[in-house]
Amino acid sequence: MQKTPVHTNTHAPSYYAATANWQTDYPTLDGQIEVDVCIVGGGFSGVSTALNLAERGYKVALLEAHKISWGASGRNGGQLIRGIGHGAEQFRNAIGEEGVKSIFSMGLEAVNIVRNSIERHQIDCDLTMGYFDAATKTRHIRDLEADFDELSKFGYTHEIEMLDQHQVSSVVGSDMYIGGLVDMGSGHLHPLNLCIGEARAAEKLGTQLFENSKVTRIQHGVKPIIFTEKGSVTANYVVLGGNAYIGDLEPKIAGKVLPAGSYIIATEPLPESVYQKLLPRNMAVCDQRATLDYFRLSADKRMLFGGMCNYSGRDPADITATLRPKMLKVFPQLNNVAIEYEWGGNIGIGANRMPQLGRIADNVLFMQAYSGHGVNATHMMGRLVADAICGQAERFDIFANIKHMTFPGGKHLRSPLLAAGMLYHRFLDLF
Ligand SMILES: Cc1cc2nc3c(=O)[nH]c(=O)nc-3n(C[C@H](O)[C@H](O)[C@H](O)COP(=O)(O)OP(=O)(O)OC[C@H]3O[C@@H](n4cnc5c(N)ncnc54)[C@H](O)[C@@H]3O)c2cc1C
Repeated sequence: MQKTPVHTNTHAPSYYAATANWQTDYPTLDGQIEVDVCIVGGGFSGVSTALNLAERGYKVALLEAHKISWGASGRNGGQLIRGIGHGAEQFRNAIGEEGVKSIFSMGLEAVNIVRNSIERHQIDCDLTMGYFDAATKTRHIRDLEADFDELSKFGYTHEIEMLDQHQVSSVVGSDMYIGGLVDMGSGHLHPLNLCIGEARAAEKLGTQLFENSKVTRIQHGVKPIIFTEKGSVTANYVVLGGNAYIGDLEPKIAGKVLPAGSYIIATEPLPESVYQKLLPRNMAVCDQRATLDYFRLSADKRMLFGGMCNYSGRDPADITATLRPKMLKVFPQLNNVAIEYEWGGNIGIGANRMPQLGRIADNVLFMQAYSGHGVNATHMMGRLVADAICGQAERFDIFANIKHMTFPGGKHLRSPLLAAGMLYHRFLDLF
């Protein structure tokens, strides 16, 4: 079995790394260059921003500390789910009714941006539509019914359907769930192949991509200079997309995003007689708890089962030993199936669970904190950052007007405090 990732310059030894369409091999920045926009971070945030800007003719350089898609973007559950953040209504005072509506609508647009990108750039990343929000409690059913009504009123164009307990087996072969919401406008994909595919598309449009090029310092000014160990980039704009891996680069934003570990195991490929019973319509599935289970089939019909959010800052000693029992609780049928991969990565958590978009200075923009729901949202934010650089900041400013708390406790106490807070939410999940 492939063991847990150690943070190296290669991709985490995941199912995704093992099935990547190709290995990226971009140079290390060596020397001084000048561009319109310098992007820090080669995950979906950085790459989608680069692609958006390159499509509009901007001269772009992207600096990635490790490999393109080395972080959460190359390790996630691959679930492409509608929506941005959790409950935009709570920010009505700051962004108004129009802002609330706009965020809802952008949550749907975000999925289309990903689908269009895959189609336009012909990216082979196993896109499969179909998603099930699974309920384990009556209050989850009520929440999902409210989502169903909201989508229907909005005029959502994709098939949606509430399932009761007897109908659940048509999408998930498990006794865990008492109902849920089917959404054919959401789905799943191979995230690493999507990200490297988008990076290649940006490269074809002239973006200069650099790997093993960690940004160590930014000199702010009319023309900021972005330094790596061996080189520097002078730019008109800087975009920070380091998310949970940003570290100490810009303390003003780093304190607002906390890294939390999430983990996935992948079984051996399952025979048709088994996978057809577990996930008959090949949908991605998430439950509704604070520490949720999420799972789906890969293209070669492995069960990819994720969960176990870890706020302590330390990876578990044995991912499979912790996750396998959770998987067997949902699917006891997998008792004799081998686990072939295990890996984890850092989600960027924000206190109010709304992605953070803003400016550190007029020419330094940032995007981060998708709180575990970023495959679609990163792509929306990439578009909004590109729009803002092009002088169309109306939708960018809806997000920029939302205030985000800096986690208390300083660098060392933040994670333990969040861990304590999440224990409280797990406790609420018991009822
Ligand atoms: C295990 C797991 C499962 C998940 N499952 C899902 C899911 O199913 N669906 C979903 O919607 N979301 C999911 N997410 C969340 C989603 O993956 C993220 O929201 C999204 O990938 C964030 O993209 P990003 O580009 O902002 O960050 P990342 O992909 O983490 O990229 C940040 C990059 O910045 C680089 N970087 C940082 N600092 C510097 C520096 N100083 N210089 C240069 N480069 C730097 C890092 O090396 C890294 O590559 C999951 C996350 C994890 C970890």
